[in-house]
Amino acid sequence: MFSGTNLPKMGTYNVNVVLSSIQASEGISRVEIAQQTGLTAQTVSVIVRRLIENGIVQESGSLPSAGGKPRKTLRVNPAAAYAVGIHFDPREMSIVVVDMTGRELASSQQELSPALEPEVLIDQAAQVAHKLLANLGVPSDRVLGVGAACPGPIDQSQGLVTSPPRRDRWTEVPIKRLLKHYIRFEVIVDNDANAAAIGERWSGHGRSTSNFAYLYLGTGIGGAMFLSNNIYRGVSLNAGEFGHVVVEPHGTPCYCGNRGCLEAMCSPAAITRNVHVELALGRDSSLSPLYQRGAALVDHTAICLAAAQGDEVARRVIDRVAEYIADCAVIIANCLDVELLVLGGKAVTHVAEIYRDKVTEALRSLPLARKTHTLRVAVSELSIDGAALGAASMVLHANYAPNTAHLVSVPAGA
Ligand SMILES: [Zn+2]
Repeated sequence: MFSGTNLPKMGTYNVNVVLSSIQASEGISRVEIAQQTGLTAQTVSVIVRRLIENGIVQESGSLPSAGGKPRKTLRVNPAAAYAVGIHFDPREMSIVVVDMTGRELASSQQELSPALEPEVLIDQAAQVAHKLLANLGVPSDRVLGVGAACPGPIDQSQGLVTSPPRRDRWTEVPIKRLLKHYIRFEVIVDNDANAAAIGERWSGHGRSTSNFAYLYLGTGIGGAMFLSNNIYRGVSLNAGEFGHVVVEPHGTPCYCGNRGCLEAMCSPAAITRNVHVELALGRDSSLSPLYQRGAALVDHTAICLAAAQGDEVARRVIDRVAEYIADCAVIIANCLDVELLVLGGKAVTHVAEIYRDKVTEALRSLPLARKTHTLRVAVSELSIDGAALGAASMVLHANYAPNTAHLVSVPAGA
């Protein structure tokens, strides 16, 4: 059942449609905005004037026009607003500050001790964020808010991290309430894959498309579906768990209760374990001397670096992982029929090209709709930590992206 809307809400929607059009461009004229959005030239003109008066948009440069006077181009004013993004990964915490365009201005990373109490960590995060903002000279009233990205599953209605893998102490942590208490800005919480996808929509490969999927390879494997200009979240806000697509029916048991999930077969821990098995058997590898000094020295980063440099043992394991990821990509293509798949997250470092090539090859030949269109594959080029940058972009997105959900009038007492 649809609910109606009131004109003030429709006005905000149109403002955000115009702003979104400016944000996705490298300079755009009022005439082009009207063509793109279907709004009348007069409506666009009124909205743009208001955006300029509020300092959100600025005129910069001009485009030649056939016959008439040159058209002024519009861009988002980077200094109009700022946002903070925090990524709480099981292993480390990253914090970034971005401007209105989603550009990273400052960042901080630190490794985490598993013994650290969540509240102590959240307090630390708030202190680091305030320090970054102070160093940049960002006034508090220009800070739109803070986005926090955490491993799922997340109860967004209560701002709770529910039962994240590999982090017992983080069960039922009221992260939204605690972070708001310590940081004193508005807080939005989401899982790391959704955050990374929104970052990609705001300032990465997703800028030019309304429909894409994101495969997030971090400490664990997650996913996000950006469909019709918004994240699809599902009934319980936990859609997009591509990490639990089964790619090997009788494979390694997964903590979700299933076997052979993408996460169980392809996470950094699984990759490391498989290479260690090969090295323990005495296979010839450039990693062998390091392994002799201590198995723990042959970590995921060392393995990916060795694979990129052509080490046979590391390359064999990474190639197999790439095939599993490609299997999952074909499922995504068949189910979602999107135009772009973004691969991102820290675990693609050094091996992104191997993954991208294998996935591209599979998507060219296997999805049913391959003759209609080919799903494009791109590797995220955002910051060291795409989820932290994405967490900051969530704040921009929540404030400025056109969202039809905002149009729905909730009946009194609902
Ligand atoms: Zn699983």
